[in-house]
Amino acid sequence: SPGLYIVATPIGNLGDITQRAADTLRRCKVIACEDTRVTAKLLRHLGIAVPMRRYDDHSDAGARAELLAEMTQSPVALVSDAGTPLISDPGYRLVRDARAQGIAVTSLPGASAATVALTLAGLPTDRFLFAGFLPPRDKGRADVLAELATLRATLVFYETGPRLVASLAAIDHSLPGREVAVARELTKTFEECRTGNAAELADHYRAHPPKGEIVLLVGPPPAESLISAPADIDALLGEALKRM
Ligand code: SAM
Repeated sequence: SPGLYIVATPIGNLGDITQRAADTLRRCKVIACEDTRVTAKLLRHLGIAVPMRRYDDHSDAGARAELLAEMTQSPVALVSDAGTPLISDPGYRLVRDARAQGIAVTSLPGASAATVALTLAGLPTDRFLFAGFLPPRDKGRADVLAELATLRATLVFYETGPRLVASLAAIDHSLPGREVAVARELTKTFEECRTGNAAELADHYRAHPPKGEIVLLVGPPPAESLISAPADIDALLGEALKRM
């Protein structure tokens, strides 16, 4: 039926497309995508011939309006180059406008590098914060890490090979004592998940410049490092005295 279908696609291994995703893409009138060459490869693999239309959040309002008009008549899919649309990828404006116009929005779940990395790294998963890409420059990166430093959660970042060592060095400096994981090339032939402290991992990747796509995870602060506010110390002293 008409509407907008948000369709997750594989993050490397083409076997990770779901049956429902393939069926939906086949039935759509048009597939909005980031890069038609990338999506064409997936469609060829699935034996699907549906017209594609380039779309991202920078596309002009006219292009968005055209897609929205089509959704009122027929099913329109949104995919990104890899993984789940809207997760560090385009689509949020399209979904927001579709909802505002009363168009049905359906999300077809599938792979996302963030959740794959979380399930591999062996870091706590009860609370996590997906923080997208760290800023490329030292100052911006340090500011974001300072903002996240007291959060009791595993932090999940998307990262690129050329910036990995600088990010690990910044984490070593701003978030000392954390367990860190580097998850690389997930679901692909050379998948790797390496854990350690940030300084060790920075040394390793300085010696072995990383290829491919990367998720960087930082474990929550060790409990004792969170006791810094005077109020906390008073409370702890009070507890300790009660036990004496
Ligand atoms: N929408 C995608 C998702 O759901 O995972 C993410 C898109 S974002 C533009 C691309 C980033 O995702 C890469 O730079 C990398 O950090 C991460 N990524 C995507 N595929 C990956 C993979 N196979 N292994 C590790 N990281 C991956």
